[in-house]
Amino acid sequence: MIQFQQVSKRYPGGFDALKNLSFEIQTGELLFLAGHSGAGKSTILKLIAGIERPTGGAVLVNGQNVGSMRRSSIPFIRRNIGLIFQDHKILFDRSVYDNVRLPLDILGFDGQEARRRVLAALDKVGLSGKEKLNPVTLSGGEQQRLCIARAVVHRPAILLADEPTANLDRDYANDILELFRSFHQVGVTLVISAHDESLMADYGRRILRLKNGQFTA
Ligand code: ADP
Ligand code: ADP
Repeated sequence: MIQFQQVSKRYPGGFDALKNLSFEIQTGELLFLAGHSGAGKSTILKLIAGIERPTGGAVLVNGQNVGSMRRSSIPFIRRNIGLIFQDHKILFDRSVYDNVRLPLDILGFDGQEARRRVLAALDKVGLSGKEKLNPVTLSGGEQQRLCIARAVVHRPAILLADEPTANLDRDYANDILELFRSFHQVGVTLVISAHDESLMADYGRRILRLKNGQFTA
């Protein structure tokens, strides 16, 4: 489903964030990306989502070369992808419900179906009953779950999560990983980055370890 073929990424300014990486992610796989801060984890996720482009090699998603695609085609790839990034902005001028509904409005969903999906996604992440609230009244953990609901509401085939357990205590981090596991169980392909590898051990999935833009053993 996702293939990196000798991918390199050099950022403007000359920093080599990824050096000649090749790997594949199978459909339905739950894969962890591990490595120190600055190792290149977010860069890999951004290349999959078409947010950044490789400076060498090819990134294929469902057989399509995302790295060489026209800008105008990127939204079609995104329909298939849910993104959970740390800097993902919650809109505080509208309700929890409207925040989660936004992707469906952009994709042109019918009203009844959109409503059903928003409520299902909020239920899934444990925010049922909070739809009318302004997100500013939610706790940090609830805001994070709001972001997860918004990322899955259009039922993407691929879910990319960048350090979703950063700064969380262990119990809560495990709750979040359990939630991701439930998406894995319905067939979603997940790529999750984290610098704390101890959390991943319990999940027994494939781990790609990065150091300075290259894989380690
Ligand atoms: P990680 O997610 O593992 O912390 P990143 O992929 O965010 O690592 O970053 C890898 C390296 O690339 C870091 O050294 C970072 O400073 C650099 N980098 C990331 N984004 C940019 C950018 N937009 N411009 C220049 N350098 C960047
Ligand atoms: P149904 O259409 O079967 O009623 P829902 O829309 O209630 O299903 O979704 C079931 C749960 O699984 C939702 O919380 C949804 O967010 C989650 N989910 C997310 N992505 C997917 C996916 N790609 N396939 C199936 N379920 C998904």
